[in-house]
Amino acid sequence: MFPTTDFTENVLGIKDRNIKFDENLPFETKKIKDERAAVYHAKLESQETHCVNCGFEGSLIKYGTKTCRLKLPNVTATRQPVYLELKKQRYLCKQCRTTFMAETEVVAAHCSITRPVHWAITLDARTNISLKTIAQPYHISSASV
Ligand SMILES: [Zn+2]
Repeated sequence: MFPTTDFTENVLGIKDRNIKFDENLPFETKKIKDERAAVYHAKLESQETHCVNCGFEGSLIKYGTKTCRLKLPNVTATRQPVYLELKKQRYLCKQCRTTFMAETEVVAAHCSITRPVHWAITLDARTNISLKTIAQPYHISSASV
């Protein structure tokens, strides 16, 4: 099963449709700080059609991205570090020449996660680890995962 809008809503449990997992490379294992880490890739875009600064409609163009690497709590049996790399879209308003970033309530502006436990559980649910294993570190039943 690969990430879709439904996946984001149903499995991650977040209603933010602006966060989409990278269709080509949603997940990889790579070395970060000398440790093999599980890394998820997602992109954050804005659905704004109006400039947030001047309110002009239809004046926005995509203007680069900024990638946040967010460390998630370790919850797997292997203690493998888990990261989310979230690429935030930046927009330029052709009318007032200002830029702004796509933002979400799930991730704070300075790139820290605002709902860590929830994300860790749901992201791990994608890696074929049994629900019981995921639930253990949180001392909750597998049914509530
Ligand atoms: Zn503007």
